[in-house]
Amino acid sequence: MKKIITNLLALLGLATACGHQSYENAEVNTFAERIKSPDVVLLDVRTAEEFGEGHLTNALNIDVKEEGFVEKAKSTLPTDKTIAVYCRGGKRSANAAAMLAEEGFKVVNLVGGITAWKNAEMPMAMAEDAYEVDTFTTQSGKTMKFHALVHASIRIEYDGKEIQIDPVAKLGEKTINYAAMPKADYIFITHEHHDHFDTTAIKMLTGDNTQMITNQRCAEMLGYGTVMVNGDTLQIADDFTVEAVPAYNTTEGHLQFHPKGRDDGFILTLDGLRIYIAGDTEDIPEMAEIKDIDVAFMPCNQPYTMTPEQLINAARMVKPKVLFPYHYGQTDVSGIPSQLEADGVEVRIRHYE
Ligand code: ZN
Ligand code: ZN
Repeated sequence: MKKIITNLLALLGLATACGHQSYENAEVNTFAERIKSPDVVLLDVRTAEEFGEGHLTNALNIDVKEEGFVEKAKSTLPTDKTIAVYCRGGKRSANAAAMLAEEGFKVVNLVGGITAWKNAEMPMAMAEDAYEVDTFTTQSGKTMKFHALVHASIRIEYDGKEIQIDPVAKLGEKTINYAAMPKADYIFITHEHHDHFDTTAIKMLTGDNTQMITNQRCAEMLGYGTVMVNGDTLQIADDFTVEAVPAYNTTEGHLQFHPKGRDDGFILTLDGLRIYIAGDTEDIPEMAEIKDIDVAFMPCNQPYTMTPEQLINAARMVKPKVLFPYHYGQTDVSGIPSQLEADGVEVRIRHYE
């Protein structure tokens, strides 16, 4: 009986226990409007299997029927955004909404669930397949995987460790489901811009053992983190060294975007494999000092970073074995691979728009 009353109250949009928190119910059209806002995080509370068969675009998935739903939600969802929940028919999401509201989340629940959504002929996304992955082998034969998440966000898997570079959960129309990834062992943030520094993603990825490595400004904004300034070297583990290198603008009129000395690029050396994450930079003279790079990530968008011509110049200075143009937005990078062929630089274009 108690359960029935609880469900009934939940359906009415009222809180269950103490009654001081509640959530909002929305019909399909209102819900569709609400989830367009960058201040709303979309949450599918069905099973992973149901989610895999199709879901609303950019939804995160936490199964409400699974043990520890509230704990998982609390550790992954941002408290400063509205959580938009849905399920198949609206019943499970109403329960989830009540539980989340009880925890202090602002919540909006889709009445009628995905069934009502489909009936209204609203668009669905199929499960985002894994992101593009490139695999490399380190000196002692360990595997390293690079997942192309979005723009400047890179996930690196190495020897059971999770490394996240500039994780951003929502960029334009694209949402990265960090909730579905393991907690990070290391998070690197190059600088404070919204396409690199996102407290929502950081929260989703931060566990008990997560180490944050960043520049002065981001550490101040976060209130924690290991600060590296240009020129610093840090031995993180026996087989893991990091160098912070300059990243800045040199073109007149663009200097204010990334002033010299403020932001970081990073060189990660993991079991002998050297990775250069350029950050937001132009083709600065310091690049000529960067040696023995196996894998490089270099930005290519105007007016903030480099033109394709500058990127080619930068690649010729650094001479990485493999180059991933990243942070390229709408820039046409398709001509870059052939231009660097003679330089022995293999260019791989992934979805880092
Ligand atoms: Zn920037
Ligand atoms: Zn940027």
